[in-house]
Amino acid sequence: MKDSLEEKQWVLCPICGAKTRLQLLPETELKSFPLFCPKCKHESIINAKNFIVETRQPDAKTQC
Ligand SMILES: [Zn+2]
Repeated sequence: MKDSLEEKQWVLCPICGAKTRLQLLPETELKSFPLFCPKCKHESIINAKNFIVETRQPDAKTQC
C-alpha cells in the first residue's frame, strides 16, 4: 500500500504540455493561480481542485 503522502501529481503546461515545477496534492486547491512554464516561458492562469486542472483564459483584450 502506498503512502498517501506520495500521491502528488505534476501540473502540465496547458500550452506545450511540459511538466512544470508545480505539484498538486489531493487536497490542493488553486484559484486563479499563475502557472509559469519553464519550457515555453508562458504563464497560464489555472484553477485546480482534486487533481483537475482548468485553464482560465487570460484577461481578454477587447477585440476590434
Ligand atoms: Zn509550456
